Amino acid sequence: MTIQILPPRLANQIAAGEVVERPASVVKELVENSLDAGATKIDVQIERGGHKRLLIRDNGSGIDKEQLMLALSRHATSKVHSLDDIESIATLGFRGEALASISSVARLSLTSRPPTQTEAWLAYAEGRDMQVQLKPAAHPVGTSVEVADLFFNTPARRKFLRADKTEFHHIDELIKRLALSRFDVGFSLTHNGKCVRNLPPCATDAAKLKRLQAICGAEFCRHVIHMSQDGGPLKIAGWLLKPAGCGQQSPPQYTFINGRMIRDKVITHAVRQAYAGYVSDVGLTGYVLYLELPFDQVDVNVHPTKHEVRFIETRLVHDFVVQAVAQALSHTQQSIEVDSSF
Ligand code: ADP
Ligand code: MG
Repeated sequence: MTIQILPPRLANQIAAGEVVERPASVVKELVENSLDAGATKIDVQIERGGHKRLLIRDNGSGIDKEQLMLALSRHATSKVHSLDDIESIATLGFRGEALASISSVARLSLTSRPPTQTEAWLAYAEGRDMQVQLKPAAHPVGTSVEVADLFFNTPARRKFLRADKTEFHHIDELIKRLALSRFDVGFSLTHNGKCVRNLPPCATDAAKLKRLQAICGAEFCRHVIHMSQDGGPLKIAGWLLKPAGCGQQSPPQYTFINGRMIRDKVITHAVRQAYAGYVSDVGLTGYVLYLELPFDQVDVNVHPTKHEVRFIETRLVHDFVVQAVAQALSHTQQSIEVDSSF
């Protein structure tokens, strides 16, 4: 048996197995990059559920011509310089893997123009060694990433792709989550040339409610209360379905931790525990919750997709959420009692 170093493309394809599961995972990585680049407007164009082509265009800080090559290399990131940085990471990305991984399993091109350049450049990686090629291009300040023929060279992966409609549904769900995480950013989503979502940036509470309604539905918004609680280092805010409004099938259930969309059993359990005194089926509760805690209290580097986190003090976070949600719900019960006395 001889030990060999894997050629770059193969190494990247193996790494891609962890982050690039389907078109929606590509969109997630690219939109998060746009958010990290300070974009205030992000347009997502999808063709055929993202199998055929997807394009993410932003008005963020762009990438210098000299840096474009690096952007496509594995372990190349502008966001982390030391291990300590990961403990206080404020950007969504930090692994420096997404662009290299995606470009190893699809035809990716990156076009970018920072405000300091008068012209834009397009970069793409070719061949087994993923040599980066550069060409001049036309582009306003910001970045576009185009990804075509996802998994064209990894048939085993391609087999797992579902119908266009299903893949697009995953992308739409993702855009909903991202749009709930950043009300200050405008998003648009187009599928096969048709605009499916157009969410302008929200400067006022009324605009935020409008976006909440566009994403979670009118029925949710009709029965929702706003809550917020500042528990020192721990803070929680968001919207909860009043117990009387629970019972809708598949209500929105979204949790954001320090601005990241997370699926977390601890938080789900805590919310359900708080509702348990009010509703018979705690699975039918609806909520959009934003939890903030010190960066060093939560480990986001648990999985490459960063959908999961680990809390340093799980019990403390759990109990804080139970208490905050229960308190907000108890107010709704009081107001219902007052209402019914009329
Ligand atoms: P990471 O986000 O973990 O740093 P990526 O592979 O996703 O790794 O991106 C590599 C680098 O390319 C980023 O660190 C960033 O400097 C740059 N980059 C990627 N996308 C954009 C974008 N849309 N706008 C500006 N810079 C970007
Ligand atoms: Mg990234």
